[in-house]
Amino acid sequence: YRAKRSGVGYAFFNAQHDRRSPAEVELTAALHHSVSRDELLLHYQPVVGAQDGRVVGHEALIRWQRPSGLVSPAEFIPLAESAGLIGMIGLWVLRRAAQDLRSGLIERASVNVSALEFEHPEYARRVQRVLEEVGVDPDQLVLEITESALLDARRAEVVLAELRALGLRIALDDFGTGYSSLSAIATLPVQIMKINQSFTRDVGLPTPAGARALEVVRSIVALAGALQLEVVAEGVETPEQAQALMQSGCHYLQGYYFGRPAPLG
Ligand code: C2E
Ligand code: MG
Ligand code: MG
Ligand code: MG
Repeated sequence: YRAKRSGVGYAFFNAQHDRRSPAEVELTAALHHSVSRDELLLHYQPVVGAQDGRVVGHEALIRWQRPSGLVSPAEFIPLAESAGLIGMIGLWVLRRAAQDLRSGLIERASVNVSALEFEHPEYARRVQRVLEEVGVDPDQLVLEITESALLDARRAEVVLAELRALGLRIALDDFGTGYSSLSAIATLPVQIMKINQSFTRDVGLPTPAGARALEVVRSIVALAGALQLEVVAEGVETPEQAQALMQSGCHYLQGYYFGRPAPLG
């Protein structure tokens, strides 16, 4: 892991191998200082029960507040990964989410974890240390991991088992968008499956595409049920979508219809 990370980090200082645009180079340089300059913040988006619409938890979504404006994680997380900064940023996210849990502002938090963080042999111990230092119950925390993070399934299994032993839960984020979906959920000890927005987008439309989308979601829910996983549907934007997804067997729903990501308090 270290070799890979420093190898990629080194490329940043090697002009010959740096294929990044000037804008990306500038952004990466600024990202080095984002933590010390206190420019990172978390937005939280509610996750609700599909039957009663009650808030059961919140997903933490990182934002970078630059003097020039807000930068989205889709833009800077990949840069943080290739510049060797994701470990620092990931720890910051975890600690801040733990503090927000500790403060009682939220009861349960889901935190997104990058593949590189997850691959670090010390990762589970780091998580444990943060939870202990801040004083948070592991069952208040869900770690969201995308399938690409689980490609090396054998190694992932070890880390997942360690995290599981701590008592926290793992969600497979963006289910269905990777290559390994089916084998990943069949073999890995995850407890929650998040159905990516690409599957929920057409659900609730009064069209053949809408009907097909609902059937696809239903079959994913059936699969999850057979494996005793809980299911979260992502990207719920309309009352029609919410209505149809409520009847699809999903346990939890998340999306702009129920609440946009926003700062706490
Ligand atoms: P994700 O974990 O799948 O998060 C869901 C994304 O969908 C978020 O985008 C959220 O704002 C957006 N979203 C939620 N509801 C709706 C909806 O109804 N409609 C639409 N169109 N979008 C919706 P965001 O905040 O830009 O984050 C993008 C991705 O960046 C996340 O996808 C996650 O993979 C990554 N990310 C966010 N925060 C962190 C973090 O702290 N650490 C790491 N490693 N990755 C993060
Ligand atoms: Mg997520
Ligand atoms: Mg997702
Ligand atoms: Mg995503």
